[in-house]
Amino acid sequence: MTKKQIIEIIEILKKAYPDAKCSLNFNNPFELAIAVMLSAQCTDERVNKTTPLLFSRCKTPSDFINMEISELEKLILPCGFHKTKAKHIKEMSAIIEEKFNGKLPDTMEELISLPGIGRKSANVIMLDAFNKPQGIAVDTHVKRISNRIGFSKETNPEKIEKDLLKIIPNNYLKDVNHLFILHGRAICKSQNPDCTNCPIKSYCKYKLNKKI
Ligand code: SF4
Repeated sequence: MTKKQIIEIIEILKKAYPDAKCSLNFNNPFELAIAVMLSAQCTDERVNKTTPLLFSRCKTPSDFINMEISELEKLILPCGFHKTKAKHIKEMSAIIEEKFNGKLPDTMEELISLPGIGRKSANVIMLDAFNKPQGIAVDTHVKRISNRIGFSKETNPEKIEKDLLKIIPNNYLKDVNHLFILHGRAICKSQNPDCTNCPIKSYCKYKLNKKI
């Protein structure tokens, strides 16, 4: 696929999903880090229903440090894996307080060093909290669509991200994750993708191979 075609695909998706943005609600980078942690194995919708009460009780890392872990577990129970997530939130808050003067750091390296924050989460935070995209967060939608379109044959998210970074121009890095998530939810679903109504079908390897 040529660079021109890749840009055309992204531009078509930008027209199809003009409001593409992070679907987690947050007021500051620290809240986004908490919301991203809670979103593991959970829908953004459920996280957004859980965080208003949580953030009304805890606004800063020291608030989370001071909260009993049993109380924190109860507050985040709807998001699943509440024990692991509560442990990570407490540990992350302690490190932010001690090492980063109570402020969430704004580099990939520092974010990845925090408990419960992997490369995907760090990419989301760098883009959506700090507006400094460093890579592309590869979630289940980005993985599936990248494989189907033909952007990457890899199955490992980090290898897919490497492939994407080789072909996606820098000024489009900020768009790919949000656009692919919306396209994956609306049309390019895991089961029975609606290829007939897909605006990028003429570029897609999956469709061409299936001759739909
Ligand atoms: S043509 Fe089908 S498989 Fe390809 S991106 Fe569109 S919906 Fe997904």
